[in-house]
Amino acid sequence: MSHPCVSCGACCATFRVAFHWSEAQPANPDGPPAELVVPLRRHELVMRGTESAPTRCVALAGTVGVDGHCSIYPLRPSPCRALVPAWEDGQPSPQCDKARLAHGLPPLTPATWNPPPGPVNDASAVVP
Ligand code: SF4
Ligand code: SF4
Repeated sequence: MSHPCVSCGACCATFRVAFHWSEAQPANPDGPPAELVVPLRRHELVMRGTESAPTRCVALAGTVGVDGHCSIYPLRPSPCRALVPAWEDGQPSPQCDKARLAHGLPPLTPATWNPPPGPVNDASAVVP
């Protein structure tokens, strides 16, 4: 099973992603690159593209619901790390559900992570 987030990206095209300025480069070399953020309030930055509608983070690559994924995943800021996909750890995620629904995608379910076993791959069943 591939991780559902790598074929989604809905949350990156739904919510404003704001965080303290110290999370981004150059203050934090492990944070979002400076050219991908814009000032929001006095001590806050926001991922470019999420500050106004239509929302789409500049770091989101691909098409939402198809191959949408974060192009700066190791450098993503804290709000992105905090938004967990629903049921990955056994807990609901209203933000994940809301984002997916906003983009016409069904919410994740516990079965997303523990799909029921499919038919047994028994070669004898198809070989005469
Ligand atoms: S909306 Fe949920 S499944 Fe989609 S990328 Fe965000 S956390 Fe992952
Ligand atoms: S930084 Fe990455 S995870 Fe965060 S909103 Fe942008 S594309 Fe999504």
